[in-house]
Order: sequence, then C-alpha cells, then structure tokens
Amino acid sequence: MNIAATINDIRHCVRSARQAGKRVGLVPTMGALHAGHGSLIEQAAKECDYVVVSIFVNPTQFGPNEDFARYPRTFDQDVAYCQRLGADVIFAPTAEQMYPHPQRTWVEVEKLTDGLCGASRPGHFRGVTTVCAKLFNIVTPDVAYFGQKDAQQAVVIRRMVEDLNFPMTIRVCPIVREPDGLAMSSRNRYLSPAERQKAVCLYQALETCRRDFAQGCRAANGLIEHMRGLIEGAGGRIDYICIVDFETLEPVETITRPTLVAVAVFFGSTRLIDNCVLCLHQTENNVQ
Ligand code: AMP
Repeated sequence: MNIAATINDIRHCVRSARQAGKRVGLVPTMGALHAGHGSLIEQAAKECDYVVVSIFVNPTQFGPNEDFARYPRTFDQDVAYCQRLGADVIFAPTAEQMYPHPQRTWVEVEKLTDGLCGASRPGHFRGVTTVCAKLFNIVTPDVAYFGQKDAQQAVVIRRMVEDLNFPMTIRVCPIVREPDGLAMSSRNRYLSPAERQKAVCLYQALETCRRDFAQGCRAANGLIEHMRGLIEGAGGRIDYICIVDFETLEPVETITRPTLVAVAVFFGSTRLIDNCVLCLHQTENNVQ
C-alpha cells in the first residue's frame, strides 16, 4: 500500500491504476478510523480494483468554536487498518496542499443544507462540499463511498455530483454500530464512561420510533415527542430531532413516503448524530 502526501503523488498513483484498466474507488475520511470507515473500505474493495482512502481533517468544515484542534488524529493506526482492509493507497495531504491560498471558490448546495446539521453548524456543508469537490477532481474516482451515518451529507453530496455533472457514482453504505447500538463515530472517544452509557439512548430512541411507526403512528410530532422524552430522560441535551423527506429533507408532518428520522444530541460537550429511515413496508432491520 502506498501513502501519497501530495496532489502530484496521488494523481500519479491513480493515473497508473487507470492505465492498467482499473476501476477506482475513493473513501473520503477524516481519519481516526473505526469499523464504520472499515465497512466503506471493504465495500470499495469489493466493487473496485483500486481503492483510495483519503485522510484529511478538513479545517473549512469546522466552525470557530468546534473541535478542529482536538479532533483525534491516529495516523499510524489508520495506515495499518487500511492496509489490513486491502486499500491500495492513502491520500493524506496537509492543509497547505489542499488550501495553498485563501480559498476564493466554494461549492454550496442550496436548500438541502438549510436544516438539520446545516442549521446548527453554519458553513459546515460549504466546507464539506468544497473539499469533496476538490477530492473528486484530484482523485477522479469512478465511485466514492459515504456512510448513511451522515445522512444529510450523503444527500447533499449526491446532489452536488448530479448538479455539477461529476462523472462518477456515489454509494451510500449502512450505519455500523457498537454491540449496544451506538453508531460508531470518531467522536465517541470524547465521551466519559458515564456519557458513553447515556449515549446509547440515541439508538434506543430511534428503535422506539421505528416500533411506534410499525404500530401505526404516522404523526411526526408524536414520534418526535416520544423520542424527546427518552433522550432527555437519559440525560442528553437535544440539538435537534427532525423527521424529514428522505430526498428533499423537507419536514414531514404525516409519514406517507420514505422518511428520515435524524437526531443530534449533546452528551456533555460532545455532539453525536444518528438516524434511521422509515419506509411504509417496514422490515425488522430498518434501523441500520
Ligand atoms: P468521517 O471520518 O467522520 O468524516 O467519516 C468518513 C465517512 O465514514 C463518512 O462518509 C461517514 O458517513 C462514514 N461513517 C462514519 N461513521 C460511520 C458509521 N458508523 N457507519 C457507516 N459509515 C460511517
């Protein structure tokens, strides 16, 4: 496995792979890799002949009071993990490589970024879409892999790729969870043992929502209030609980079509997100 630290290096690697007729998959990450990232890398390795994992803690997607400086950086472990999973190259640029000058060109997806995390984290999605557009132009993958864990991000990136005609496909993979149901996240390591125990209420609330829905509850308000009680009862401070259309991300009052239930909750100073999708033909495993 190679490690490319510069844009020239990764372009060279990808060019050689293409010349050998290989299909190129990209897994964009911010490192501190866990089994959630691992599932994307494995999926890429199944579907592509050449797997690029990018590791870049992107400064432009963090707000001034967010955790950019203390975001976990575990590069040596990440390299070993990628190697074990069969990645072909890690692209790990510095911020100077990615942003050599003050950035004057930004990619913004309208409307889809107004609500949910977009409302709580102004400028976040502008940073995400801009860095993804740069990564897509640098790596030129056939397929890029994202997690359903960041459901709004997946919708926004899909739309960006469609609107700007990037010649590639976006694949969204299911949420990988800890044995007790907590969605894996690089930020879980911020949690104290007591917060970690409380944090499972996110998954439990989503499971409850799924059960309420399966029993016939179609009113978003009722579902939200039940979840609110459970999460607040467990000691979480709710940023948002939203029930929105799966594609447009517009709020839904009565569920009649595929719907995203998305939550963001603070445990101490750590903000975690999670979600599930409600479909009218619900299966037992719908909470992924
Ligand atoms: P991050 O490093 O947090 O920016 O995440 C990189 C990619 O991994 C994103 O597409 C995330 O949605 C995905 N991801 C993070 N956590 C999980 C998880 N628990 N299950 C599946 N995908 C995940």
